[in-house]
Amino acid sequence: MIESRRPPLPPVGQDTSHVFSVCYDALSLHESERRMTARILDGQKIRDEILAELKDEVRLLTAAGIRPGLAAVLVGENPASQLYVKSKIAACEQVDLASALLTPPATVTTLELLAVVEDLNRDNNVDGILVQLPLPPQVDTKRILEAVDPAKDVDGFHPVNLGRLASGRPGLVACTPAGCLEILRRSGILIEGANAVVLGRSDIVGKPMALLLMHANATVTICHSKTRDLPEIVRRADIVVAAMGKAGFLQSDWIKPGAAVIDVGTNTIKDAAEAERLLHNFPARLEKFRAKGSVLVGDVHPDAVNTAGALTPVPGGVGPMTITMLMSNTVKAARLRRASLRISPTQSTATAR
Ligand code: NAP
Repeated sequence: MIESRRPPLPPVGQDTSHVFSVCYDALSLHESERRMTARILDGQKIRDEILAELKDEVRLLTAAGIRPGLAAVLVGENPASQLYVKSKIAACEQVDLASALLTPPATVTTLELLAVVEDLNRDNNVDGILVQLPLPPQVDTKRILEAVDPAKDVDGFHPVNLGRLASGRPGLVACTPAGCLEILRRSGILIEGANAVVLGRSDIVGKPMALLLMHANATVTICHSKTRDLPEIVRRADIVVAAMGKAGFLQSDWIKPGAAVIDVGTNTIKDAAEAERLLHNFPARLEKFRAKGSVLVGDVHPDAVNTAGALTPVPGGVGPMTITMLMSNTVKAARLRRASLRISPTQSTATAR
């Protein structure tokens, strides 16, 4: 919490009744950082709220004889994948979900992995199946992901779930865009009637994000690498979601003053000149880069904090929401598949989308 910071400007169309505070390191703030105006949308705080709600819902389900469970399939020994899966299992423990870890060897064939997925599809105690990517090159990833029962597809990657989202039917939504929507909603950003621009059209982020915003009654424009006059399109947006995978690409002066900006990008910068270019107004962060040799930045230039009305930081914005929504999807999958007749929908909170 920063005492000396001046009050944030309310973003366009924003309900100011839910105001979150900043999460940057207060003691090391430079004068230029203190002048920054955007309200910081704190993903860690929202994650904690949702996890607490999920824990209550898991308690209700468990009391009704249904303990939601997630099975993670981790092929081989990729250290990054091991770390991701470990965090996911730890999150399960935090909300009292049952979890199982299956670890086929890196030499597994497509047919062997299909058999693993089929077993999990048949297991009534498994509500969510997570196949950690990337899979080894000999495995047909698409075939594996499409073999997951759509009712247990807690990553929301299955074409059936994307189709359900497109047609406005209940289903499991990809975790990162679902997390972005939760940030907007829980931060009181008015979506209905807003002009929303989504940068990126991937199946796992941009496309579902645009559909979620459209269903929430925003007027949505989807941009991609062939879009013309990108800055002009972004300047019309009340809500911008940047998911391109290009460090600091979206410039501060493209943003309509007061707009809400959700930065999905996670880019690790190791080059000193690049770090200098992006962080010249953030001496505290530059200092940390020099000490560590790398820094995580989003797809939005950090200077956007001067024009946006509300902004998700990187790190600490969208990142914490992805695993949170995996937990939410697992509880939702249990409710939809096993408990629809036993638990009233009004008892559900975070998963009641
Ligand atoms: P992706 O599959 O590589 O898609 C990138 C999209 O950006 C494509 O649609 C591409 O357009 C578009 N694009 C590229 N250059 C552009 C430009 N100059 N102007 C406008 N659009 C441009 O990436 P993704 O999987 O969606 O991920 C996007 C970012 O989100 C990455 O930084 C990734 O690390 C991050 N991410 C973060 C989380 C999290 O938990 N925080 C989760 C998932 C992803 P075309 O379709 O024309 O090629």
